[in-house]
Amino acid sequence: MKDIKQGTRAIWAGEKDSLAFGATQVPVVHSVSFGYDDMDEWYEVAIGNKKGHIYGRNTNPTVQAFEEKIRILEDAEAVTSFSTGMAAISNTLGTLLHPGDRVVSIKDTYGGTNKIFTEFLPKQHVEVELCETGNHEAIEKEIAKGCKVLYLETPTNPTVKITDIERMAKAGRKAGAIVVVDNTFATPINQQPLALGADLVIHSATKFLGGHADALGGCVCGSKELVEQIYHYREINGATLDPMAAYLLLRGMKTLKLRIDKQNENAMAVAKYLQSVDIVDDVFYPGLEGHAGHEIAKKQMADFGGMLSFAVKGGVETVRQLLPKLQYANRAANLGSVETVVGPSRTTSHVECTPEERAAMGIPEGLIRYSAGIEDVEDLIGDLEQAFQSLPKSLYESVV
Ligand SMILES: *Cc1c(COP(=O)(O)O)cnc(C)c1O
Repeated sequence: MKDIKQGTRAIWAGEKDSLAFGATQVPVVHSVSFGYDDMDEWYEVAIGNKKGHIYGRNTNPTVQAFEEKIRILEDAEAVTSFSTGMAAISNTLGTLLHPGDRVVSIKDTYGGTNKIFTEFLPKQHVEVELCETGNHEAIEKEIAKGCKVLYLETPTNPTVKITDIERMAKAGRKAGAIVVVDNTFATPINQQPLALGADLVIHSATKFLGGHADALGGCVCGSKELVEQIYHYREINGATLDPMAAYLLLRGMKTLKLRIDKQNENAMAVAKYLQSVDIVDDVFYPGLEGHAGHEIAKKQMADFGGMLSFAVKGGVETVRQLLPKLQYANRAANLGSVETVVGPSRTTSHVECTPEERAAMGIPEGLIRYSAGIEDVEDLIGDLEQAFQSLPKSLYESVV
């Protein structure tokens, strides 16, 4: 599949070995175990000398088809999957980090990831250093002090900050670190961290990969050597992806290229529209020339993604009145779905922080995260327009 493009891979990759009875679609195999009449064959499969499945916590044909598709889309040697994106992250860090080790990361990682760094890893006596996102010199300085893992996420939640993967991976490898990148926001359609020098790439498949907000899942792709260790940790600790979820994710992934192309386009158009709105103070989208990470994003991403955020005048009160007026957006905590999804950062990605902490992180109280869906963009912009127009001027004019 090396010589075919991402859109074709999204359709065809990874399914062949899991098809049965001449069916053209991968079946949902709900069997917990896989039986063998031939004791020698059972043994050969059990020790990995022969293809096959033994027990559902370890492998399953439907799950395997999902894994293979994302492995090929990320151009990776190996892959393993998980029940959620957080399981992918916690199992990967749990495999790689031991008491006395040090991990360098950024302040703007996904909320759950940030909790692992601030709450759980210190209890395991792992030293955690979280650097200012986007300050490449500061990150390089911390890497050079030595670390077992360099953990990155780009673009980030909610202000879509960009980190230079190639530059950081180079610094990480020089220091002997394993470089991990959470690629959930970009997907392999927009960005391939392994090609930029990362060792492992992680996804919350719950988001753009599945794309329909109806199944949870996660995965990690990379070298056979590293992924085998993480797979071993997962098969014993048990955060296995369910076959039905794997099927839904697999089905969703067939349209990955189409969806991402449309979401890229819609996010860019919405970001440009928002720049022209008086009530909007600030628009964060890496596709905008004024965005701090624009040049790096242009270099390392095929396109700028479906996620953006914007800050409204009048803070929380404007958000409270604006969001219920939108007709074509779910007000919810997920992202990356075919429907547009909106939510205030104080309720979604950074709900565990105080207003002061959010301010220190550059997250205004009036910040709204916007995950562009695949609707017709004229309708999305029209919807925003009518919602803005419905706001009483007194709400934001006093604070202009
Ligand atoms: C949602 C998300 C996760 C966690 O994924 P779950 O499937 O919800 O566990 C991790 N990283 C990023 C960037 C996310 O958006």
